[in-house]
Parts: sequence; structure tokens; C-alpha cells
Amino acid sequence: MENKPIILIVEDEKGISNFISAILTSNDYSVIKCTKGSEAVSMTASYCPELILLDLGLPDIDGIEVLRSIREWSDVPVIVVTARNNEAEKVEAFDLGADDYITKPFGTMELLARIRTAIRHKQNNSYNPLQTDKIKIGGLVIDAVKRNISLDEKVIHLTPIEYKILLLLAKNAGRVLTLDFICKEIWGPYTNEQNALRVNMANIRRKIEENPAEPKYILTEVGVGYRMVEGI
Ligand code: CA
Repeated sequence: MENKPIILIVEDEKGISNFISAILTSNDYSVIKCTKGSEAVSMTASYCPELILLDLGLPDIDGIEVLRSIREWSDVPVIVVTARNNEAEKVEAFDLGADDYITKPFGTMELLARIRTAIRHKQNNSYNPLQTDKIKIGGLVIDAVKRNISLDEKVIHLTPIEYKILLLLAKNAGRVLTLDFICKEIWGPYTNEQNALRVNMANIRRKIEENPAEPKYILTEVGVGYRMVEGI
């Protein structure tokens, strides 16, 4: 018997659910589906899926509430699928522990890439900076042991704060980190340094991006946060 990773699709629109299901099945995932939030919670408990694709607009419980109750006892990766371009809602989803979001309509390749990233991050959860000597993304190399950074083999000089921000994003490459999350990681929980973050980000981009107005390494998720790309 094959042991394919199980993905739970929580989606009340049949067309979209079938579309996603067809993509996943043909890419060697095993699919389970439901249309209601209440079912999503019970199916997560009984099937222990590898990942959940969670629509936010559900007929019974709001997807945000579903995420909240799953996170009380499970750290299964959750990708929020949303038709709404509502930034506040995306931030709320991340704060509740969503791993990523994808906005409808989306392409097959994008969906599969997001799923692979979220599953991989779950598996690499036991990240130990002492065992991971170097992070390479395109021409950018971060040596977390020696604490130095190079871009296309030229040394880049960052301030300690800039370094911490870059390392945090690089360790989470492929994932969106919210402004609030980054600020808490860098400056601690008791201040709100979003302006300082923006200033530092502008400086980092000036140092590592060819064209800071069109960044290749660190992308802005408008109103939500930043995402370091996984590869260039
Ligand atoms: Ca829906």
C-alpha cells in the first residue's frame, strides 16, 4: 500500500474543490474533502492530514474560527485559501498560525509550490543554527556561524539589526512573515517597531537588491509582511 501524504481540502465551492483535488491527486497526494468548518475540525482529528487547504468563507463556521480551534491542539501546516483581498484577515490568519495563504484564482504551479514549502518547513521545524552553516539563495550566502553575508561573492556589511532581520527571513524562506511577527522576533514583545522595520528593510534592500524598487530577494506582501524567496 502506498503512503501518500494526505491533504484535507476545506472548500464549499464544488468546482474549486474538484479543481484542487484533481491537481493534488495527479501529483501524488491523497485527498480528503469537506465543505463545512465543523467537519474540517473533526476530519483533522481523525485523519491527521499532512496539510490543510482552508477556505475562509465557509457556510457554517468562518475559516478563521476553524483555524483557531485546530491550532489549539495541532500544528498541521495550514494554507489559507481566500477569494477576499482582505489584508487584515490575512494578518489575523497568520497570527493564528496559518503557514501561508493563496488568493483565488491561483495557478497549479503556485499551489503545488506553496504546499511543498509548507510541508518542508514543518519537517525542518527542528532547525538548529549551529548545524546549518550556510543559507544560499541565488547569489546571496548567509553564513550563520561566522555571521557574515556575501552577495555574488562580495562581502555585504549589515548592522546587527539588519543581520537579524535578514537571517530571520532567510531561515523562513518561502514563507510570509507578518510585520508584527518580525518586530516581536527582533525587538521583543513590548514595543511596536514597524517603522524601524521599514527603515531597516529599505537599508537591507539597498545593500542586497540590484534594484530596491523591484526586489528579487525579499518581496513585500502588501499590508501583511515580507517573504524571502526560496531561490532565484
Ligand atoms: Ca467559500
